[in-house]
Amino acid sequence: MLRKHRRIDQNKEEMLSIVATPIGNLGDITRRAIEVLTRADAIVCEDTRVTGNLLKQLAIPKKELISLHGYSKPEKADFLVTRLRNGEHLALASDAGTPGISDPGYALVSRARAAGIKIEVVPGPSAFLAALSISGLPINQFLYLGFLPLKKGRQTLLQSLKNEERTIVFYESVHRIERTLQELAAQLESQPERRVVIARELTKLHEEVISTTVKDLPEAAKNVTKKGEFVVVIGPKQ
Ligand code: SAM
Repeated sequence: MLRKHRRIDQNKEEMLSIVATPIGNLGDITRRAIEVLTRADAIVCEDTRVTGNLLKQLAIPKKELISLHGYSKPEKADFLVTRLRNGEHLALASDAGTPGISDPGYALVSRARAAGIKIEVVPGPSAFLAALSISGLPINQFLYLGFLPLKKGRQTLLQSLKNEERTIVFYESVHRIERTLQELAAQLESQPERRVVIARELTKLHEEVISTTVKDLPEAAKNVTKKGEFVVVIGPKQ
């Protein structure tokens, strides 16, 4: 449903632009991202304060920000598809990185695609790609796990990593990083030389990359600075 006084430019074509944004360093915004965020009629985002602040830092004039969370009702995505159908240009951004990668976005993109809406992507940073590229581990093939499950299936998944022949990458929060690394060390104990890289605060002032082995992981887990955001990368099985 459209707001009563919204004016649609008849020459404008519907468009959903998926826009990646920096994961910490504002300098990583792309020229296309700035252009598209400037041009869009409205921006669909997670936290409107975070995206509002990004626009401010980029000197992009204020515009409508529509929040869409993982827990938003499916009707919200349908409502946005209706707006697209009515000729609006919506940009989709998340708080940081690439929308849909362990972030909301899937519901809207899949519905827009099913509705035949024109979609474009403005690629850019993603924390797991940054971590893989800086890890020094083989990355021609890798397994991305997002966030590990907290309870159900957690130990089974950790166990399964023992036989994984590709490099593995996953996200972890500051609250669980130590516990997760200790659990990994226990599960992979039989491969003491297997490599593990802990990437913290990538692209930010306090960027830190710790390259260690399963054998030394319990110590690294204890000592890693418990602040900021983390990506964990595990080398292939030995
Ligand atoms: N969509 C984002 C992307 O493309 O990377 C990921 C969103 S996910 C909700 C957020 C998680 O990504 C954080 O908990 C952390 O594990 C990881 N992350 C994001 N920024 C990071 C950074 N600068 N350094 C390390 N990890 C980061």
